[in-house]
Amino acid sequence: MDVALAVAWLRAAAASVTAETDQLTRLDAAIGDGDHGVNLARGFTAVAATLDGGGFTAVGDVFVRAGATLIAKVGGASGPLYGTAFRAVGKALPPGAASADLADLATALHAGLDAVRKLGGAEPGDKTIVDAFRPALDAFEEAVAGGAALPEAAASAARAAGEGARATAPLTARKGRASYLGERSAGHQDPGATSTWLIFQALADVTAP
Ligand code: ADP
Ligand code: MG
Ligand code: MG
Repeated sequence: MDVALAVAWLRAAAASVTAETDQLTRLDAAIGDGDHGVNLARGFTAVAATLDGGGFTAVGDVFVRAGATLIAKVGGASGPLYGTAFRAVGKALPPGAASADLADLATALHAGLDAVRKLGGAEPGDKTIVDAFRPALDAFEEAVAGGAALPEAAASAARAAGEGARATAPLTARKGRASYLGERSAGHQDPGATSTWLIFQALADVTAP
């Protein structure tokens, strides 16, 4: 993954969360405060804008900038969580390198998930971003270990993220606003897990042959 592909991924993620704003908002209205779509559309639109003509030489810097922008622009739980994740991805990539190979990218995504878990304290099954991110990372790592190229690894990660997001529906939330509802949070798909799927799907889309 080089600078251009990293920028293309983040732009595609911005387009996707913007297109799905109403859907994400509906999901968050059911178990939260109904702002997830607007939060992410605003945040990723700002990311896309800050990357325009960014003149990046290192691929890691693209993700660090994206993360810092999300932290600055998005209030609520998801801004710091996604922001910290992207910043961790960027910092885990080889410093100054113009591009990252698949093993670098897998390591960096791992650092991103670790950052989310450290900041938010969510365990798998708590009905959060982690429930899509973790299976996506597992699938990505498995594909890479099996010799897959990026398009295949990304497609596999996106599929796993989608399954993970759908599997949050019956769960009772134990983190974030939805946890205030207790068992009434069951029966609705988690908005953050859903946006994580959109972000991995965006990577699959921009790398698809
Ligand atoms: P807020 O809940 O502050 O309004 P958003 O609506 O933008 O923020 O984001 C809500 C999403 O954030 C949830 O659907 C959930 O996936 C995710 N989330 C909340 N708390 C955590 C946490 N501690 N760890 C991981 N993800 C979390
Ligand atoms: Mg919300
Ligand atoms: Mg909110």
